[in-house]
Amino acid sequence: MSEGIDNSEYSIDELTEADVEESEEVRYAVRLTDVSRVYSIGNRTITALQHVNLTVRPGEFVVVNGPSGSGKTTLLNVIGAIDYPTEGRVILMDVPIGDYDESFRATFRLTYTGFIFQSYNLISTLTALENVMFPMQLSDDPPAEVRERALALLERVGLAERRDHLPWQLSSGEQQRVAIARAMANDPPVILADEPTANLDESSAEIVRRLLRELNEQGKTVIVMTHDELIARTPGARRFHMSNGVLTEIE
Ligand code: ADP
Ligand code: MG
Repeated sequence: MSEGIDNSEYSIDELTEADVEESEEVRYAVRLTDVSRVYSIGNRTITALQHVNLTVRPGEFVVVNGPSGSGKTTLLNVIGAIDYPTEGRVILMDVPIGDYDESFRATFRLTYTGFIFQSYNLISTLTALENVMFPMQLSDDPPAEVRERALALLERVGLAERRDHLPWQLSSGEQQRVAIARAMANDPPVILADEPTANLDESSAEIVRRLLRELNEQGKTVIVMTHDELIARTPGARRFHMSNGVLTEIE
């Protein structure tokens, strides 16, 4: 990969201060109390999460590994209020998210969480810049300002020159970097990533690891489902293992 990550137009100091202030007010970035998720398909049931308890403080870096089918994606979706538990309670940024209707939850997700997926999930008919702008649609700011912000985020991930490319015109690593810029669009306090390096070559994976680390260093709570040992070794990371829907912290 020829282009590096360009931080020149981006003030890390400003962000850090703002986010530390935010962190002091919030008690729980995430709190799951006795959360279970049972899927019913016809007359069969699958228990994807079993009595999961998890408390994450603002600014923590959490890594969860576990075999395929163990419930990692379900856990991330429940944390991010994309899915809901069949039992138990989910608190996200101190808000008991399950007590609200889907319209509130949708707005809440856009404001407070940034999702990064294994297969990027960019909108195929939108350019890189438009994909980053997409979560900003609730913003009251003038369109030109929104565009500027999105462009600054693309610059941050080293892809300003690719702003007008459609997803298929980007490499896998570039698509994931656009997805990370999109996850940062509304400057959410919580970043949720599902196997973000699983489909990437080593140099792209390293850029993604570094971006996740940087976001955490700026005070964001980062929760990653991954087999990537180098993400798990992030200094200060709390590590968990998932097996058959049971979550265990690795001391
Ligand atoms: P992982 O991400 O660790 O591979 P998942 O959370 O995707 O695990 O899946 C956990 C279990 O729940 C699996 O047995 C999977 O087949 C099942 N599952 C996941 N999502 C659904 C769904 N929407 N409907 C039915 N079963 C599901
Ligand atoms: Mg998964």
